[in-house]
Amino acid sequence: MPRNFIYEALPMRVRFGADALDALPEELDQIGLQKVVVLCSPEQESTGQQVADALGNRSVGVLASAIMHVPAEVAQQASDEAARLGADGCVTVGGGSAIGLGKAIALKHGLPIVAIPTTYAGSEMTPVWGMTTDGRKETGRDPIVLPRSVVYDPQFSKTLPVSMSVTSGINAISHAVEALYAPDASPIISLMAEEGVRALTAALPAIVEDPDDIEARSTALYGSWLCGACLGNTTMSLHHKLCHALGGTLNLPHAQTHTVVLPHALAFNQPATPEAVDALSRALGGADDPARRLWDLAGELSAPRSLEELGMKEEDVDRIADEVTSRPYGNPRDVSYEDARGLLYRAWKGEAPSSDPAN
Ligand code: NAD
Repeated sequence: MPRNFIYEALPMRVRFGADALDALPEELDQIGLQKVVVLCSPEQESTGQQVADALGNRSVGVLASAIMHVPAEVAQQASDEAARLGADGCVTVGGGSAIGLGKAIALKHGLPIVAIPTTYAGSEMTPVWGMTTDGRKETGRDPIVLPRSVVYDPQFSKTLPVSMSVTSGINAISHAVEALYAPDASPIISLMAEEGVRALTAALPAIVEDPDDIEARSTALYGSWLCGACLGNTTMSLHHKLCHALGGTLNLPHAQTHTVVLPHALAFNQPATPEAVDALSRALGGADDPARRLWDLAGELSAPRSLEELGMKEEDVDRIADEVTSRPYGNPRDVSYEDARGLLYRAWKGEAPSSDPAN
């Protein structure tokens, strides 16, 4: 029998299939948008232009200025430009950075977002925004930033490099893992989490084998949708706190950091979360130690497994351990400074995950 729980559905329209460019006008019609600005990263400007071209005179321009962690000055410039162009909405094409820029504009001007995600990070499914001022990232929740429509088209993720596909997919898995033991877990979200992990762990090896495998890309996007919904509907714990501190303080790369830390955070929490372990075990083909299985999988897919290879210095282990244990948050197990330090050291060194990292 499920425990007591609250489930609040987010107002969200999802369109899935390999026809995003044909489908976009209908998605804009649903919301009543006439003049949208297309947002993307500088590296994806040609993709942004392709979307603008498909929209014809309903596009008022492409802003290719999205970068990781949404610097406040970039958000300000894009908001001013969207207003100057008279945009009544934004179409984001890209990963968490492009969607993050759309969210910053939505927060300021209330412009609705239609998102075409091209990574597996899951930001399109959440009402969470982030903005960085003078190196400090502030985050918040506001329903106004939740995309009104999300168009998942595997063709748009086909160009995502293999290494980024793997780490982005494991980033998505981390949302599902923490949703399974979240303080506000619910049966429906746990179903999504289990299925999301199942889909992504099946798709990622196939993408490594053949990056053009459209079935695998489609399965990965499906998994990323489910895992993103987990992130949007529950409160994250130790793993996301660690990654937030590592990304915010040391500027480590987002998806790669999640990939390295996840097996360690999960191994630490496993003894306190038998139901999550059962669900993950089912999703991972019967693995009796899901944390170890995810660590092995990262190795099999040639993903990074140490924070050292991402550029972290050993002396930063203490600083991050202090940061993640200085403020309280919900986690299935209490985390002492020694636990956090031991866990981070193992992750830094690339050692196998342990449920008892302090020893
Ligand atoms: P990203 O959006 O920064 O993209 C990484 C790089 O990959 C960029 O250069 C981008 O142009 C390129 N890229 C993306 N898709 C591509 C494709 N299909 N083909 C070729 N290149 C492609 O990476 P991300 O991991 O998706 O997003 C990370 C950011 O998103 C972080 O700032 C993170 O904090 C944020 N995020 C926010 C939430 C939330 O709920 N608010 C959730 C997840 C991530």
